[in-house]
Amino acid sequence: MTKYASTYFFSKGRKFPEFEGKSVDELKTLLGGKGYGLYLMHSVLDLRCPVVLNVPTFHAHELVDGRLPKTLENDIMAGLDELEQFSGKKFGDINNPLLVSARSGARYSLPGMMDTILNIGLTDEIVNNLAKGDLARFWLDSYRRLLQMYGDVVLQMKEEIEYTDADGVVKMVENDPFEMELSAFKKERGTTDDLDLDADALRELIKRYKAVYEKQGKVFPQDPREQVMRSAEAVFRSWNNERAVYTRRLEGIPDSLGTAVNIQEMVFGNKSDRSATGVFFTRDKNNGEKHKILDGTVLFQAQGEDVVAGIRNSLPLEVLLEHEDPAFHEIYHELKTTGDRLEVALKDMQDTEFTIEDQDGKPVLFWLQIRDGKRSAVAESVIASNLVKEGILSKEEAVLKVNPERFEELLYPQISDSERKAMKGKLLTKGSAASPGAVSGKVCFTQDEALSAKDRGDDVILVTVMTSQEDVKGMKASRGILTTTGTKVSHAAIMATAWGIPAVVGASEIHINFPAGELTVGDTTIKRGDVITICGTSGEVYKGAIKTTVPTELSPEAKNILAWSQEIKSLDVRANAEAEEAQLAYDHGARGIGLFRTEHMFLGDRLPAIQAVLFRDKNNPDANVKVEKALKDIYDFSKHDFKHALKVMDGHGVTIRLLDAPLHEFFSHSAGMQKEENPMLGHRSIRMAITDPEIPEIQIRAILDAAGELIDEGFDPRPEIEIPLPIIAEEIRAIHEVALKAAKTVKEKRGGKAVPYALGMMVETPAASTSAKTMVPELTRVDPAYDKDVHPSYGFASFGTNDLTQTTLAISRDDADRFLPLYVEKGFFDRHPFVSIHPSVERMIRTFVEEARAIDPSFEIFICGEHGGDIYTIERLHEIGLSGVSMSPGKVYRSIIKAAQCQVKNPRKAIPHRA
Ligand code: PEP
Ligand code: MG
Repeated sequence: MTKYASTYFFSKGRKFPEFEGKSVDELKTLLGGKGYGLYLMHSVLDLRCPVVLNVPTFHAHELVDGRLPKTLENDIMAGLDELEQFSGKKFGDINNPLLVSARSGARYSLPGMMDTILNIGLTDEIVNNLAKGDLARFWLDSYRRLLQMYGDVVLQMKEEIEYTDADGVVKMVENDPFEMELSAFKKERGTTDDLDLDADALRELIKRYKAVYEKQGKVFPQDPREQVMRSAEAVFRSWNNERAVYTRRLEGIPDSLGTAVNIQEMVFGNKSDRSATGVFFTRDKNNGEKHKILDGTVLFQAQGEDVVAGIRNSLPLEVLLEHEDPAFHEIYHELKTTGDRLEVALKDMQDTEFTIEDQDGKPVLFWLQIRDGKRSAVAESVIASNLVKEGILSKEEAVLKVNPERFEELLYPQISDSERKAMKGKLLTKGSAASPGAVSGKVCFTQDEALSAKDRGDDVILVTVMTSQEDVKGMKASRGILTTTGTKVSHAAIMATAWGIPAVVGASEIHINFPAGELTVGDTTIKRGDVITICGTSGEVYKGAIKTTVPTELSPEAKNILAWSQEIKSLDVRANAEAEEAQLAYDHGARGIGLFRTEHMFLGDRLPAIQAVLFRDKNNPDANVKVEKALKDIYDFSKHDFKHALKVMDGHGVTIRLLDAPLHEFFSHSAGMQKEENPMLGHRSIRMAITDPEIPEIQIRAILDAAGELIDEGFDPRPEIEIPLPIIAEEIRAIHEVALKAAKTVKEKRGGKAVPYALGMMVETPAASTSAKTMVPELTRVDPAYDKDVHPSYGFASFGTNDLTQTTLAISRDDADRFLPLYVEKGFFDRHPFVSIHPSVERMIRTFVEEARAIDPSFEIFICGEHGGDIYTIERLHEIGLSGVSMSPGKVYRSIIKAAQCQVKNPRKAIPHRA
């Protein structure tokens, strides 16, 4: 392992042998993103950039009671000596003082989440000496900024003030006392612009700032090196401030990464009206386009934080071209040409920060920061695709530039960032983001309410404790679904995703009072018919309506990314879809169906047919007539749906799972249902097929007849019959027998022409995971009593990881969110185990794959649990060697892209396919 130094000093052209051959990722993890950019600017790109001491990220966890350890202080001290040497200035020198900034910078940029302090090194003595003549205002302005930032960031000086919120409630809030002082002062002086404060005014303001220190019993140190140490410490601490922690949670950034601290010689954009500070993106971060005019802003006589704080209106960069001094025109061109050069060198759109310092009347450009720019989901594909067109990226590199999860955002109704900000006060609560998209509508609490509201032409949000199969009409009538229990992998959530209905589930802070027709969250009450907005992408629930935006088609650039990904990936990507969603899945790029849940067919008008079979009175012979009729109906509509799906996926496998209906969930309100104590572990899946063999028989006949009709019509259907939840080889043997019989009947009916099919098993229990040796051979076992061509042509398996997680961890998939979020928060689990594959479940998968492939090296193995659309899981499965993944149609895009990314980073041979 490479031994890295305690600190790094970056100056023009300096090389670091230990960085040679290291990946960008490793160096960014060490130095932070900003530190890595500073290293490049000095050592690789030869940009004019002030010298800097980088204190790497691993130190962020070394603070003891919030203080730097002595050894690190010593290392920083040595670095400060080097800063003095290279800058030609000295800390505390009253004529030529060295001033520095201390800037945060983590592996992944968290703009504005951590702290930065500027102008460190100023003292009363220095300011008294230098604040004279033309530069008086500059020195005083720099000092008042330092007092303010140091007080705020290092000494955490806050003041409590009272305010009244939108509902008229009086609350206390913490405020920055310096900001309050500054705005009061400007008000007194009748201005809103800092620039109107002249040297005398700033002297007075500094006095007032000092009074704030005194009032709070705080001391501003007059020793510059002491200021540096305390500032560095505070910047390290800011890794753990509330907003940084919150953002990391949202973005899944591990706490272990830490921030680096960059101590950099100051250059001054506030020195005179010929100095400035600015930022620009090399391409438009919203739409990804490269404009003729640079996309950025500049602020004269200002320091960096003024631009982001919006203190004064920043100006477009073109003002540099309009400046009376041609030196500014040159600077504009330097920005532009360097921006182009940076894109080629760093192979991405850059977000840059610069300062123009007035050096004896001559404006000089300094680069302060370069980093890969944050961009919208739309811009992401446009930039990646255009960089390929421009010869900067290969297709493989371009695919790596796209965040697979954000790709779906391209087509879902969205809440824009500005809208989200504006609606902050209206946020009611957050649940699990179960089905993406944002939607507003009137609250209804029951199916009947939802249906009549829809008839009246209202947009409906169905709010309920948990949806069941019998609420299907209500769900379908709704634009959005909000439940107070359940998780993303509850069937209701899966169905909502499949139907593209935005859903938030498990919003446990909501209490529904059905008789009163209202819900409460904290102090807020929402009545039936009131409008709320849910965002199934983020899990947010808002009071009132929010404007959403719906894109209509993927951009040509996004289509390029998808097409390249399809070409590159070695994993098959299928979708979990029934007849209705098959076309959508195909259009999104799925080639094949990895899970057709037949129980999803028994909705609405079709429900009585399956109920008649399942809840028949076995002792009453008269009931048989009704059952016969019901089986005929089931056959008819099943064949219809299967045929449609097989046709849409012509030439690709369609895995049709035999009925898997957890009774409580699908028939909870039905009379005649036997109550089960643990329905998920009860009479479901294959067990029901064993006790009621007419059902698999009728389903298999419908599958084969549908395929037979398609063959006759000239299509190439690939039906794959799948057995749910088996635990022993005998169960497979029993269904194999049913399949042989059905195939024989179909062959005879077709005048001797058999219909080819495959037979597969779900792997949803530890028992199945560890029994490939006995179960896999059963799928294709040759039974001499039957002709060869009525046997399954091949066997396959698919991991149902929703159940496999439930059965391996013994955690109910429906109730998990009562305690799992806390487990994740406490770090017991790195990731939510119903979202990303848990290591124990991964071991189950590995065991099965190894044993199955030892029997047949080209045995096809898929995953069709919700984990199949999770990018972390896809990476693991690519490595383990699965043949393919299958997920809800809404997650097909991300899976195709992620599968391609896995292949680029970790190439493997595709698993051989059946002809
Ligand atoms: C699973 O358990 O992962 C699975 C795909 O089946 P279902 O979600 O329908 O139980
Ligand atoms: Mg299952």
